Amino acid sequence: MAAPMLSWPNGARCAAAFSFDVDGESAALAADPATARSLSTMTHQAYGPRVGVRRLLEVLDHCGVRGTFFVPGYTADLHPGTVRDIAAAGHEVAHHGYDHVKPAGLTLAEQADQLDRGSDALERLTGARPLGYRAPMWDLSWEMPALLAERGFLYDSSLMDDDLPYHLDCTGGEEGIDSGREAGESATGRLVEIPIHWALDDWEQYCFIPGVAELGPIQTPEHAVALWHAELEGMRRFGGCWVLTNHPFLSGRPGRAAALETLVRQVTELPDVWVAALDEIATHTMRTGLPPRPMPRIHPG
Ligand SMILES: [Zn+2]
Repeated sequence: MAAPMLSWPNGARCAAAFSFDVDGESAALAADPATARSLSTMTHQAYGPRVGVRRLLEVLDHCGVRGTFFVPGYTADLHPGTVRDIAAAGHEVAHHGYDHVKPAGLTLAEQADQLDRGSDALERLTGARPLGYRAPMWDLSWEMPALLAERGFLYDSSLMDDDLPYHLDCTGGEEGIDSGREAGESATGRLVEIPIHWALDDWEQYCFIPGVAELGPIQTPEHAVALWHAELEGMRRFGGCWVLTNHPFLSGRPGRAAALETLVRQVTELPDVWVAALDEIATHTMRTGLPPRPMPRIHPG
């Protein structure tokens, strides 16, 4: 028998969330520390927290939408006013690592350090520890779900094995991991996972950083929005949770921000779509009481 499917408030066919990864300088520095010597590259990245966030806050305000901003601790420490502005506007400020390094490439202690330093940086500015986490470069490690659950995080949004959020049971962790607690001792041992997908990210459409990320050709906003629309139409047909991700250093540019505003407005006018921030979607999911899903497995051979 098929597992019961997550349902949305007011009978909506799908949920839609607008999320923003405020990478700034940290994304380039983590990819290649030598970029610190390039003033042009640093300013290309600084555009996000300096200009892009402000413009995107205006877009969300015009459309009456509450968004989720994943902020690396490095960005928070370098651009504190930007993070205060996001929080003051009522949006969710969530965790995106400290240095924007991939957790999958770090030791357990290094992962914990990145988590705690990132939470400390955000708490200094917002007064609260973040409830949501998204792995830098969308590259979550096998150990991170348990580390998040131990620290009281409500959700992660980095995995890609479903169209709908679900409960992830991380009490078992992975064999050989010593997180400092006995198995099953974590506060809840559970985390909501809100899946994402590369097709709903602006990075693949717009990102061109010479020597760091030369994906190219840079796409038009029309091309990007058509792709995002197609996924939304599919989720209205089959059900799902449409999580769009924009980077302020990319989508904060004027033509892209204008196209995004049109899209946000269109999505809010769809009667069968529940538009919400990720913490609201995670809370709704947690309250459904659906059975938790064990950690994914791969063939041991
Ligand atoms: Zn990022």
